[in-house]
Amino acid sequence: MKFIELGLSGKTLKAIDACGYTQPTEVQEKAIPKILAGANLVVRSQTGTGKTAAFGIGLVERIASKKTSKALVLTPTRELAMQVSAEIQELGAKHGLKTCAVYGGQKINIQLKALEKKYNILVATPGRLQDMCKRRKIHLSSFNLIVLDEADHMLDIGFQKEVLEILSHLPPKRVTLLFSATVDKGVKNIISRYMPNSEFIEVGEQKIVSSINEEHIELSHVDKVSTLHRILDEHRGVKTLIFMRTKRGVMKLKEKLIRRKVEGVGMLQGDMEQCRRNKVISRFKDGTINILVATNVAARGLHIENVDLIVNFDEAENKETHLHRVGRTGRMGAEGKVINLVSHDEPRKPNYHGGNRQGKRGGRRGPSPSGGRSSSGGRNRRPSNSSGSSKGRRPSRSGRPKRRRR
Ligand code: AMP
Repeated sequence: MKFIELGLSGKTLKAIDACGYTQPTEVQEKAIPKILAGANLVVRSQTGTGKTAAFGIGLVERIASKKTSKALVLTPTRELAMQVSAEIQELGAKHGLKTCAVYGGQKINIQLKALEKKYNILVATPGRLQDMCKRRKIHLSSFNLIVLDEADHMLDIGFQKEVLEILSHLPPKRVTLLFSATVDKGVKNIISRYMPNSEFIEVGEQKIVSSINEEHIELSHVDKVSTLHRILDEHRGVKTLIFMRTKRGVMKLKEKLIRRKVEGVGMLQGDMEQCRRNKVISRFKDGTINILVATNVAARGLHIENVDLIVNFDEAENKETHLHRVGRTGRMGAEGKVINLVSHDEPRKPNYHGGNRQGKRGGRRGPSPSGGRSSSGGRNRRPSNSSGSSKGRRPSRSGRPKRRRR
């Protein structure tokens, strides 16, 4: 299918062209016509599928054709708010539409000033939006289209009360679009209360894209840093994102890598000032640094392109977080690689690596992504999507890893 077949205006088509998009993705093909028709829409799709442009194009077209006066996009994090507003600004540029973003972590005065100018689309995180509403700088009654982006994540990180309150203050006659990777109880509650007669679109299976090659190294916790060092050595010059669970862990690991003379390392964690975070993201994007140690703050939504390698230094807390982490690589069909450092002497996490796959694993872990078996004690490394030739492999006594290559 071509974008022109979606019935878009010439100006939007030009903007899409300027973004370099030649063909709509599945979510765009399915969602845009429904948004243009004014449907309340629930879209279950993962990040990395082109969902931002799906609702971005839809709302730009609606505003340009005067079917919508003003649109509000709610996002869970400030990084996502910045990204989404930049993408929508680009998509609406040829129509002369203006996008404004308000989010925590930046001085409020800068945003108060921005709000004084005329804008058509507001992208906001829930907390800062409510703050602005209390100051009477934003009036929720002026928006007749709302997008809840990454609704599941928004609820997961504790914005349920804010989101429900914001929805209750919007005009009842409006269009509501909800995008979410999962549709769980909290999301269903929003749908039933605030999105009557909504249509439902599902895009792809909830799984890791097939172009991602996922491997596991089972090892002892104390061996993680040296193993990571070796991996980085083998992947010199490769854009690598290393995920950890805690901010403290991120800081310590970055220091350890620097002490080991690993070059081009940066970090991203929630305690950093917004301007430092932005700087690090842009240095990672432009290749000034090519190793980024991060908490899950980098897992959601960030359009960090061309990440070739994801290392899960710590396992993710749950399946969704794992999917979001690995979604940073293999985006839009590009090839990607994921290495999970699975420590056998840490508390077990639920098994969800490559959640779309089935089968049994050996050792102490549960269902394998590959259907093969994995060792429990050594640091055997194997591609999880291989046919599983590692059946019954035992850990090496020395605890040294037995590296297996594809
Ligand atoms: P998202 O799902 O919004 O996180 O988008 C993932 C990435 O896909 C972003 O970097 C977009 O720039 C890119 N993208 C969106 N739509 C298209 C398209 N039709 N063709 C190619 N890339 C796209």
